[in-house]
Amino acid sequence: MNAFQKLGLDADLLQAINDMGFETPSEVQDKSIPILLEQETDLVALAQTGTGKTAAFGFPLIQKLDPSSKKTQALILSPTRELCLQITNELKNYSKYKRSLNVVAVYGGASITEQARSIERGAQIIVATPGRMQDMIRRRLADISSIGYCVLDEADEMLNMGFYEDIKSILSHTPKEKKTWLFSATMPKEVAKIASKFMDNPVEITVGSKNKGTANVSHEYYLVNHRNRYDALKRLADANPDIFSVIFCRTKRDTQKVAEKLIEDGYNAAALHGDLSQNQRDLVMKSFRTRQIQMLVATDVAARGIDVDDITHVINYQLPDEIETYTHRSGRTGRAGKNGVSMVIISKSEVRKIRTIEKIIQQKFEQKEIPDGMEICKTQLFHLADDIRKTEINHEIDPYLPTINEALEDFTKEELIKKFFSVEFTRFFNYYQKAPDLSSESAGGRPEVSEGNTRYFINVGSKDGFDWMSLKDFLKAELNLGRDDVFKVDVKGSFSFFNTDEQHTDLILKTFSEFNHNGRFINVEVTKDQKSDKGGRRRERSGGRRNNSRNDDKKGENFKGRRRSDRSDKKGGRKGSRNKNIETSLKRRRSKA
Ligand code: ADP
Ligand code: MG
Repeated sequence: MNAFQKLGLDADLLQAINDMGFETPSEVQDKSIPILLEQETDLVALAQTGTGKTAAFGFPLIQKLDPSSKKTQALILSPTRELCLQITNELKNYSKYKRSLNVVAVYGGASITEQARSIERGAQIIVATPGRMQDMIRRRLADISSIGYCVLDEADEMLNMGFYEDIKSILSHTPKEKKTWLFSATMPKEVAKIASKFMDNPVEITVGSKNKGTANVSHEYYLVNHRNRYDALKRLADANPDIFSVIFCRTKRDTQKVAEKLIEDGYNAAALHGDLSQNQRDLVMKSFRTRQIQMLVATDVAARGIDVDDITHVINYQLPDEIETYTHRSGRTGRAGKNGVSMVIISKSEVRKIRTIEKIIQQKFEQKEIPDGMEICKTQLFHLADDIRKTEINHEIDPYLPTINEALEDFTKEELIKKFFSVEFTRFFNYYQKAPDLSSESAGGRPEVSEGNTRYFINVGSKDGFDWMSLKDFLKAELNLGRDDVFKVDVKGSFSFFNTDEQHTDLILKTFSEFNHNGRFINVEVTKDQKSDKGGRRRERSGGRRNNSRNDDKKGENFKGRRRSDRSDKKGGRKGSRNKNIETSLKRRRSKA
């Protein structure tokens, strides 16, 4: 007898489970399913992300509903559109042999009339985000007045996102006798409050200890000076060439900035946050799933519902405001039985937060040093050796081999290896040889280079359609400056500020003395308050990008369009490898060969 059969599931479900290839129930399924099938009860189940909670409520729910009635019998609330769709899909798979059972997803950002029409055709199960569900109820497009079951999935995340009032209001439209099943990864006070306020004597199930992080995730923290945060992030990426990661920032703004910088520095990165349209978010997630993006920089809210397995690292670029949120972040890695690492970049003043988190996750952090340049060079070299070992030979090169062999015939294999690796090594070495120690204990840190900078005022800003990236591009193009020559670009409404090295001041003032852009006179002045700029400019460059590449764009070209092509260029649809120079040089070598 199959392990799922023992739980009391019927033949249609067992057939579907078999099709999905599930062999044994997970712990939360083992514990919840028999109770939910046999009893009419409220339930609170706590289990980590990735432990199979969807099936834990999905199987019994499907079995209990009456497919011959078209009435809505169950409502599942979930925090995000992504999760909502994911649950809907799962439920459709589970119920594929229950022909007349319909599951309808209800979420914002899509046509409400479409969704209402689907419900009208008969939806025994509605899976909804709280905001859109509220709309539906208000407009009388959905009737949940006779449901038998309400599932609050990822309850902690829903409350984190501020859905308490919505949930309360939605529940007030459901019958008193319905049963409520609450599933959550953690049990913060707010969830406990929901349980005590809206549930009747719930059965409690806990898998693992409460609030515990996944056991196969190790936790590390890196102490750095605040201003070295970004450089530290790059080193962590360089030290892990196969990284496939989510990087968490606290705000949308930081998320966008860090992603833009990484892209500029040649990494396969992208931002995911609430200011992107649904379409943009879908595209980003698609590229992440297919590994075209290796570093996804995200806000907590946007990252909810990222259901990508195999994430190797979660990097906390900044710690979350709510310490509880840390568990959600680290839960994005170490899924499906794999190992994962959750890294935290912090400054000294935040160390006590680490102690608090340790208590919550009941796991110790390991304090680690940001890898130094030589360690990274070494890692990259070994990674390259491994790549070469795994590379399949492309026989398109066969016709050219005689010439190549001739050119190299005087070298032994040992010499060739040395030469080949020297080419690659030198790139990283040149970059990292002078790179400072980034650990905050060491006196060093990056040298301050604030003297010799000039800060300028310019009379265009966001009202003229500029953001800091496009203004920087525009200036670089007009002045024919290199990619790091214009920095600290700060765009305000109708004006902006930026910095350059002192040596460019004459050129800038001259260029913008009588400059007309789209019929508008652009005026640049040196700011009087030079002291307002104390921060050092970013000196360190990615190990992968050696040269200060010139911006050869033609003058007068539309800056927005250029940005985009710039970017797609850098990503180039490459998979797997982050490091552009190594990768391109390999490609170059292969194609020359
Ligand atoms: P949670 O909601 O706890 O985060 P999910 O329900 O999303 O977890 O399940 C995580 C993954 O595990 C999904 O891909 C799901 O299909 C798979 N899964 C669930 N239960 C089992 C099982 N018993 N055996 C194998 N895979 C399972
Ligand atoms: Mg879930």
